[in-house]
Amino acid sequence: MPFSRLLTAFALIGLTLPALAEEVVVYSARAEQLIKPLFDAYTKATGVEVKFITDKEGPLMARLKAEGKNTPADILLTVDAGNLWQASEEGLLRPIQSKTLATNIPAHLRDPDNEWFGLSIRARTMVYNTSKVKPADLSTYEDLANPKWKGRLCLRTSKKVYNQSLVAMMITEYGEGKTEDIVTGWVKNLATTPFPDDTKAMEAVAAGQCDVTLVNTYYFGRLMEKTPTLPLAIFWPNQNLKNAAAGVHVNVSGAGVTRHAKNPAGAQKLIEWLSSPQAQNLFADVNMEYPVNKSVAVDARVASWGSFKQNLINVKQAGTLQTRAVKLMDRAGYK
Ligand code: FE
Repeated sequence: MPFSRLLTAFALIGLTLPALAEEVVVYSARAEQLIKPLFDAYTKATGVEVKFITDKEGPLMARLKAEGKNTPADILLTVDAGNLWQASEEGLLRPIQSKTLATNIPAHLRDPDNEWFGLSIRARTMVYNTSKVKPADLSTYEDLANPKWKGRLCLRTSKKVYNQSLVAMMITEYGEGKTEDIVTGWVKNLATTPFPDDTKAMEAVAAGQCDVTLVNTYYFGRLMEKTPTLPLAIFWPNQNLKNAAAGVHVNVSGAGVTRHAKNPAGAQKLIEWLSSPQAQNLFADVNMEYPVNKSVAVDARVASWGSFKQNLINVKQAGTLQTRAVKLMDRAGYK
């Protein structure tokens, strides 16, 4: 029977077509050049079209909320567990049960309630001036509050979610009192007012305005690709701690199926594919991030920075403690 006749037959007996070939619609806070190659590969492998729009996470979430049941979006893709948690809190996501995702993604990098899943790891670590600091001088995030760093520390603004997430994780580890002491110590050690982005903070370190800063490693990778001669290197902090604060602070970019997805099955399949070995390199390497799937090797450029132990507290804490972190940073005078 020709396909068109088959369609008519289905229509006549009131059946809908299988959802398999239905397109998947993604709202993405990850830039087009980071996701389009992936979606093209997915379409090539499965025949499923992926439509997407990109914007900042705030407008995307506002749009999802405003559209409610009428949203065309099946998936929200964004960076930072703080944002994913926020989307979940606002009821924009739905839980999904997936053995594939549970296998491919370590437990601390996904929502315990299965509403969102980390797809790449973003490590927030130290970058120092190699002509002014010896690696042996560095140890932990906490130690940057030590008066020995007075006038030597640069930080990105507390307004960006990245350092809010870092401070939120410290609250989990140490409680508010000790964390506030640490953040107050950082502020006392600042060489200058906080920077609008990680790259500017690193440029200040390279220029000798300060000696050390905290950044996501992909910014380091981008800057060093542009200017390989900069006197900058990565240090992995908290490697020898034995408490819950042990390990480098990690966050994720990730995704969840929207509450009102028209094609939830297709959405789940796409997220599962993104966590698979064949997609993980494409997803992580394009932005010099780390794959969440442990069976996948890291990009050669990223591997050249050395390996590290990561902090194992669930990244959801970056969300649940975000408000307290913001208030704490404000009390500490961290602009
Ligand atoms: Fe970033």
